[in-house]
Amino acid sequence: MFIGIDDTDSPNYMCTTFLIIELIKAFPEWDLIGMPRLVRLNPAVPWKTRGNAALAINIGRGKGDCRMIGMLGNRSILSYPRSYSEPNQEEVLERASCVVEKWAQKDYSDPGLVILSKQPEESLYHQAVTTILEKDDVLRVIKELGGDYFQLNNGRGLIGATSAVAWRPKDRTYELLTYRHRELWGTERVISEQEIRLLDSRYPSTFNNFDFENEHPAIIPHTNCPILYGIRGDSAPDLIMAMLSIPSEIPESWLLFITNQGTDEHIITDWKTLRPFSSYEVVGEVIGEPWTLRGGHVFISLKSDNGIELEAAAYEPTKSFRNVIRELRRGDRVRVLGEVREDYGTLNIEKLEVIQLAPSYIKKSNPICACGRYMKSIGTNQGYRCRVCSTRADEAIMELEKRSIHTGWYEPPVCSRRHISKPIKRML
Ligand SMILES: [Zn+2]
Repeated sequence: MFIGIDDTDSPNYMCTTFLIIELIKAFPEWDLIGMPRLVRLNPAVPWKTRGNAALAINIGRGKGDCRMIGMLGNRSILSYPRSYSEPNQEEVLERASCVVEKWAQKDYSDPGLVILSKQPEESLYHQAVTTILEKDDVLRVIKELGGDYFQLNNGRGLIGATSAVAWRPKDRTYELLTYRHRELWGTERVISEQEIRLLDSRYPSTFNNFDFENEHPAIIPHTNCPILYGIRGDSAPDLIMAMLSIPSEIPESWLLFITNQGTDEHIITDWKTLRPFSSYEVVGEVIGEPWTLRGGHVFISLKSDNGIELEAAAYEPTKSFRNVIRELRRGDRVRVLGEVREDYGTLNIEKLEVIQLAPSYIKKSNPICACGRYMKSIGTNQGYRCRVCSTRADEAIMELEKRSIHTGWYEPPVCSRRHISKPIKRML
């Protein structure tokens, strides 16, 4: 029996993942089947709270070899590969809606809870991660599958809740989340930053741990939520080892989630037109020199291989990533990934591959006259003339620009990456 939840948090307090802990507590006589799912949906939706994460668990009577995937106080949380019996749907709805009622931040969110004995079609997840789904479409799916739901306010969270159940992990990563003792919520977190800096080298299968450019430990939330920290990676056992390597206050509980973080599943690669509120891969040619707007945002014009001209931007928070965009030249071949924004239809660059660098020429000096002197410029775009013998020339002496970028992938620093964006580390 799947339980999906979404949109229960507020901008700086609570966290939907914490409700999973409370849900597990609410069903002590049932087992977890598989791992809890942390599913990031379309990051371009305008009303997301923070990372647009939806969550789901599957409960039943466990069968097969179980694995420990977390601790609740002194109690181990076990996960089983299969189930041989399911709880009563109405009872699950009743108990689970009490959890949502108790913990959801009703003033800030539109919580949704769905109970499904069958998974919706996988296509529902694909729609939810790449486009904007309507709640009515999701309600129809819940009804067709004989599911139940509970909602607060406008219940928009039902869209994510149902989509999280529909997700079939193919490319997948894991996140280990640790939660603080209740009395510490809102106080400063006690944790060794030094050890977080070492995570990437000690546990190479983990990613997005520390932002060395901004000197910021990315595994620690900056809000007052119950999370102590969350480590992401490709190997669940490595995440447990990584957790044990970090000296910190003692967490009240910890739990492993299977996730679609770091997978790029929000990117549409096969497209004819670019629409706002979706994210795309665009392969094409740079058709002008980059320019910088006030605020430090760097823009470039592109023409895609299927003939669409567009502007793409690296915004100020992407910091040094903008220097890569500034170094692009007319004729370079690139692959850019990012969200198309509603205002002006600009593509917000999340990641860039330089496929091929075009030869770029820069002025070396004014032309040299037959009489041996350097010519002088007559005026902008009017050419050059020798002051002595009046010989004219149109072009300066040019030389091949030595480029400071090379072919390959570039990405912004850890703090300005999307949760769902695939880190370059996972692409090699
Ligand atoms: Zn001359």
